Amino acid sequence: MNQSGNYCWRCGKERIVVRSWEEKVGTSVVTTTETACPDIECQKLVEKANKKRVDKFKASQLKRKRSLTCKRKNLKDKHLLK
Ligand SMILES: [Zn+2]
Repeated sequence: MNQSGNYCWRCGKERIVVRSWEEKVGTSVVTTTETACPDIECQKLVEKANKKRVDKFKASQLKRKRSLTCKRKNLKDKHLLK
């Protein structure tokens, strides 16, 4: 498999494949590979940064979901009033 182009964004080292698995997406099967930086210390920092990003994303998603649910609830209430 050609792994070119998969480099650590922190140190620029070529990332190594930790594990790979097949996932069914719709009707096709896609191979997902998990890669990590060969530099353990660097990888730790990368994971930390990724987690921060994911947490931020999750928080914003939750906020959106909440406001959507709120809107939907208001709509429902209006319908009930009719
Ligand atoms: Zn790195």
